[in-house]
Amino acid sequence: MAQSRDRSKRADGLVVLGGKPRVRPGAVWLVGAGPGDPELLTIKALKALQRADVVVHDGLVSDEILDLAPEGARRISVAKRKSRHTYAQDEINRMLVAFAQDGLNVVRLKGGDPFIFGRGGEELEACREAGVECHVVPGVTAALAAGASAGAPLTHRGSAQAVTFVTGHAAHGEPDLDWESLARSNHTVVIYMGLSTAPAIAARLMAAGRDGATPALIVVNASRADERRVKTTLGGLGEAASALSGPALLIVGEAMALAAEGEAEAVEALLKGATA
Ligand code: SAH
Repeated sequence: MAQSRDRSKRADGLVVLGGKPRVRPGAVWLVGAGPGDPELLTIKALKALQRADVVVHDGLVSDEILDLAPEGARRISVAKRKSRHTYAQDEINRMLVAFAQDGLNVVRLKGGDPFIFGRGGEELEACREAGVECHVVPGVTAALAAGASAGAPLTHRGSAQAVTFVTGHAAHGEPDLDWESLARSNHTVVIYMGLSTAPAIAARLMAAGRDGATPALIVVNASRADERRVKTTLGGLGEAASALSGPALLIVGEAMALAAEGEAEAVEALLKGATA
């Protein structure tokens, strides 16, 4: 933990404010939980969890990982749910700040990496504005786990000189992306939160000039026991996506030709089921 330069802090951990001793202030740890497999948690994330007084977590974080926190630690799920109250981002921000100001060690546990489509930046800003100490522990983002389990490198000499992570989700339907640059060949595009907008995204990429025959891969639940991979092409992406659900990445690029095969029958069966 970073050393405080506060001269009013005493050796016993108490901070003297206005002459009145108070409990040492807590801190917020923005921790990446990785893509799901607990073995993909970093040692630093594990240590932060083991010191937590309270764990504020997303829906994507598994019980196996949450169980690494001390038994007495309070667990608060701020997952988006249809049936129960959903926390707005500013409620989450205020909750983190309030717990830390109460002297608690707060772990904000997020799927993948906190700074990749995780709104970790907003939580960090809220802590800074409130003068609350905040530390960030990176995590393995879903794209890295998906490439690894499919055996498909996101960059590859000769066929993928760059990789771009984009969001497929926008408040009002399709995202506003730089389609021309995404359509360049020898470039891997990883689309987070893009399952429902896959047909529109594929159409945009092709309209901007990306070949419909470009290899594409959909990975659902990367690194989890229920992982599912579907290898297709940019032209087939929309249809393949329509048969799938769950947290998924769409990956488009020449290097996806290296992705492990074997899901063709599975997707055919799924498509039959979806149209039956
Ligand atoms: N911070 C996270 C991303 C949060 S946005 C990270 O770094 O991975 C949520 C989206 O991430 C999901 O809609 C999905 O597109 C993707 N995602 C998260 N975990 C995933 C997983 N295990 N497999 C596939 N996609 C995943």
